[in-house]
Amino acid sequence: MNPFTYERASDAPAAIGLAKGNAAARYLGGGTNLVDLMRETVERPEILVDVTGLPNDIEPRAGGGLLIGAAATNTALAADAHVRTQYPLLARAILAGASAQIRNMATVGGNILQRTRCRYFYDTAAACNKRQPGAGCDARDGFNRYHAILGASPACVATHPSDMCVALAALDAMVHLDGPAGPRSIALLDLHRLPGDRPDIETELKPGELITAVELPALPFARRSTYRKVRDRASYAFALVSVAAALDLAEDGTVRDVRLALGGVAHKPWRALAAEAALKGRPATPESFRAAAEAELAAATGLRDNAFKIELAKRTIVAVLGDLTGDEA
Ligand code: SF4
Repeated sequence: MNPFTYERASDAPAAIGLAKGNAAARYLGGGTNLVDLMRETVERPEILVDVTGLPNDIEPRAGGGLLIGAAATNTALAADAHVRTQYPLLARAILAGASAQIRNMATVGGNILQRTRCRYFYDTAAACNKRQPGAGCDARDGFNRYHAILGASPACVATHPSDMCVALAALDAMVHLDGPAGPRSIALLDLHRLPGDRPDIETELKPGELITAVELPALPFARRSTYRKVRDRASYAFALVSVAAALDLAEDGTVRDVRLALGGVAHKPWRALAAEAALKGRPATPESFRAAAEAELAAATGLRDNAFKIELAKRTIVAVLGDLTGDEA
């Protein structure tokens, strides 16, 4: 590990001031990913600005919705009574991630900004365009079971590892930022980037910007929602495929509204807009769910080890929507 200085910020302006003008400054939440990256010398910060003392409140908004301080831990968010009743897909997604000890440390802001778990990214002897632009990508012809089937590029086929972000994508979460140029907000769906030819640039954050809060809009039908994660073992494993879904059914059994997002399939949490469009107004049947899944995965492509995820994603979408209609499809 390289030498670095450590500073603890009392509020967002102090944190931004400490990091300002230093491209090698990093904000430190629970450290559950950043410290790993520092040990592997993938990250070499000159200064760590500890932001765990910033607001961690989880507050219902007047008229519905929820404001979540970026320093709230994953454990606190999953246990929050409002989250459990109004946004059960979010509680389930968080509880599907990592281990209890890591969830106790991990913060909401840090979870959003965690980096891929592609093994070649962590191995400084491997070729990796994300770590070193122009170096190549050893995952393409290497071990790529966990890699992307949607939105990938010749330069990078990594996936975003967060479960929580998949639920946030389905919920149209807004991310509140502060930085040297002042506060602003961005939709979570617009925060993360697809790899293109610059997989090293992972988000739309500007230099020195800090996540201060996440806001969930009111979504009453999210009370009928869930999250399913398919993985190689029952706990402490990243998703092969995951599905976050909320379903609003009309009295005649048609789909009035639906939210659907996928994890483990792309460089960013993947909102399944094609599937949503295919479902609205259709009868909530396994046939409709399968047609929607086919629409969403039409552009998917597989590599040597991960092509099975295309069919797996389709079947998981059908199964999750079946769960939400009470049909064991
Ligand atoms: Fe690096 Fe992306 Fe290739 Fe993994 S998939 S080795 S992160 S360029």
